[in-house]
Amino acid sequence: MATLIDGKAQAAALRERIGIDTATLVDQTGVRPGLAVVIVGDDPASQVYVRNKGKQAEAAGFNSYTHRLTDDTSEDALKALIGELNADTDVHGILVQLPLPEQIDEQSVINTIAAEKDVDGFHIENVGRLSLGLPGFVPCTPLGCLKMIRNTGLELAGMEAVIVGRSNIVGKPMAALLLAQNCTVTIAHSRTYDLPAVCRRADILVAAVGRPGLIKGDWIKPGAIVIDVGINRITDVDGRNRLTGDVDFEAASEHAGHITPVPGGVGPMTIACLLANTLQAAQLAAT
Ligand code: NAD
Repeated sequence: MATLIDGKAQAAALRERIGIDTATLVDQTGVRPGLAVVIVGDDPASQVYVRNKGKQAEAAGFNSYTHRLTDDTSEDALKALIGELNADTDVHGILVQLPLPEQIDEQSVINTIAAEKDVDGFHIENVGRLSLGLPGFVPCTPLGCLKMIRNTGLELAGMEAVIVGRSNIVGKPMAALLLAQNCTVTIAHSRTYDLPAVCRRADILVAAVGRPGLIKGDWIKPGAIVIDVGINRITDVDGRNRLTGDVDFEAASEHAGHITPVPGGVGPMTIACLLANTLQAAQLAAT
């Protein structure tokens, strides 16, 4: 039976450390980390994420600024706001909540964020830095996954790592991070010929697809570390709504060595890593 990776507890421990380091930064330099979150439109899931980010930022001792723009906001207006936040010395991290309405080019907007305030790690400069192995901001979800993988205490060098999903925000940066740990990395995706066979090779399996229960129990190599990034809203047979991951958790737990639950795994670590990146941005600004 697999050991449960308790993302909620690991995130709480990380947030506590961030709170202590924030207090030290304020004491020593007078600089208090400031996180600005920009949300365009009224997508309910995005509203929940943004509220949580603001609450947790304040709990860590940060200043938190939320900018709510209407659905019909133009790309130019959004870029103008980002220009103001770039120039604001009280703001150390800027996050534009995705997705954006269709009249707005997401990557173009993200590239207007000053790279040193891009705490989501999506700016083209930070993507390039990660790819080159240079210091920079790393996207929060794969960063949280890496922390949980490392916290198993296992030697990662030489392990076969399989990432299912090749998105810019999860799959690709996850691959770069595991490559930097000297894993042998495979990225599988919707066109992969034999997904079960590829998954069965994995000492580390990261599922980031968005399909409930796609990864079956007998796809898991005995003893593997299984990280489930998927967040899927499903309706149970008894009509209740709940969140589930991309991995068939019960069956996979029979084979895995370590496994994250959904909810309570990757999700909480993602927000904690956003705070970690923002603190780092403030520390760099204070030096
Ligand atoms: P995405 O839609 O951008 O990418 C999905 C990827 O899965 C694609 O690369 C696609 O090729 C691959 N894919 C689709 N069907 C497949 C199949 N049948 N077999 C193999 N691969 C397949 O998604 P994303 O933004 O990377 O998010 C993935 C999941 O992770 C979603 O459920 C999302 O909600 C969740 N997510 C969670 C967090 C968190 O904090 N926990 C953060 C980001 C995303």
